[in-house]
Amino acid sequence: MKYVLGAKCVKCGKEYPAVPSLTTCACGGILDIQYDYAAIRRDFSPRELARNPDCSMWRYRPFLPVEETTPPPPLRVGWSPLYRADRLGAELGLKRLYVKDDGLNPTASLKDRASAMAVAKAREAGADTIACSSTGNAASSLAGNAAAAGLSTYIFVPSRAPKGKVAQLRIFGATVISVDGSYEDTFELSRAAIDRWGWYNRNAAINPYLSEGKKTVTLEILEQLGWQVPDFIALSVGDGCTIAGAWKGLKDLHSAGFIDRLPRLIAVQAEGCCPLNRAIQTGKPWQPMEENTLADSIAVGVPRNPDKALAAIRESNGLAVNVSDEEILDAMRLLGRTQGVFGEPAGVTGTAGVKKALELGLLSPDSTVVSIVTGNGLKDVHNGIRAAGEPMLVKPSMDALLSAFAEHHITPKERNSLL
Ligand SMILES: *Cc1c(COP(=O)(O)O)cnc(C)c1O
Ligand SMILES: [Zn+2]
Repeated sequence: MKYVLGAKCVKCGKEYPAVPSLTTCACGGILDIQYDYAAIRRDFSPRELARNPDCSMWRYRPFLPVEETTPPPPLRVGWSPLYRADRLGAELGLKRLYVKDDGLNPTASLKDRASAMAVAKAREAGADTIACSSTGNAASSLAGNAAAAGLSTYIFVPSRAPKGKVAQLRIFGATVISVDGSYEDTFELSRAAIDRWGWYNRNAAINPYLSEGKKTVTLEILEQLGWQVPDFIALSVGDGCTIAGAWKGLKDLHSAGFIDRLPRLIAVQAEGCCPLNRAIQTGKPWQPMEENTLADSIAVGVPRNPDKALAAIRESNGLAVNVSDEEILDAMRLLGRTQGVFGEPAGVTGTAGVKKALELGLLSPDSTVVSIVTGNGLKDVHNGIRAAGEPMLVKPSMDALLSAFAEHHITPKERNSLL
């Protein structure tokens, strides 16, 4: 790991060597991987990067804490599309909007970036078994990435996890422990089991390498924008590891001289579960909240990475925006109808927050904004149908079709006549 200096506690500043099975500091604080940016700047540049044919997160190896000899895990993670979203932008009244569809990763969420990193580090540690607890996506992505690399997984999910995600776990051959309790209960049980059996730990708030994987999402966004820095990057927040990773990626690029300024973050949480945003809004320490939202991936009442997440929002002079479940369902329809992008509820929550921030006047219509869609809608078809409704049901006859159209006030479009 040519450019890694070590790991440093975000709470007390204690430093550790970057061994593969690193967890938290003795004080309980979360560690942060440190790099030699002067050396990265010396050896590596945007121009050099442009010549790299690797279309995956591993194209950013100089910024990643893996040994040169560690093979990239088999599934192709990263390099998801960044779409210029003009139709959605026009509808929201925003001049330049981009949508980064991270639901197009191999197991259909941004979590693949962290899980691929977990698999790489588990191999370095010589582990053959990995475990985690998750609201769903960290679990399914770990199960998939581990299966492809021939590692076993023990996965703890709350029993409320959507069926699509649980089906992924079973298909990928994980041992699934569905916990009859909250996400907090699930997390605590996984922690005890990992302690007992010594599995490699893929809990993002404990293993500091995972946010290094997640940060590749912002490395990519900036490269895809030709290193033109957007004004804002919006994303949904649960435990806070994703936003912390996104911010780390941006700071890396800034420190290595790839970009000359930093965007502001828009942290979006659900009104019914927004402990981190509430801390930003009130200026008080965060307090646990109920997990009261249909956006299961961000229904996190006790966030596991509050320090890094709050620091990311504050350091970026970011916005903290809360949205209702209705606004989340509306964003699902909006993204689908205007851009052909189908996100799960937490996947579109960032976009719902952009709309809300414009309505509240927190965001100027002249801003350049990137909204990250963090997970695919097919994982949670129940809420997809809830957002968009059931289709009309017709008997297979033209008469039935005509009366169904009449009933639904649909005037079929005629084909455009040619001149
Ligand atoms: C995990 C997840 C998030 C939030 O990430 P945190 O690290 O928990 O803040 C957002 N959207 C989706 C789809 C997720 O799976
Ligand atoms: Zn410490």
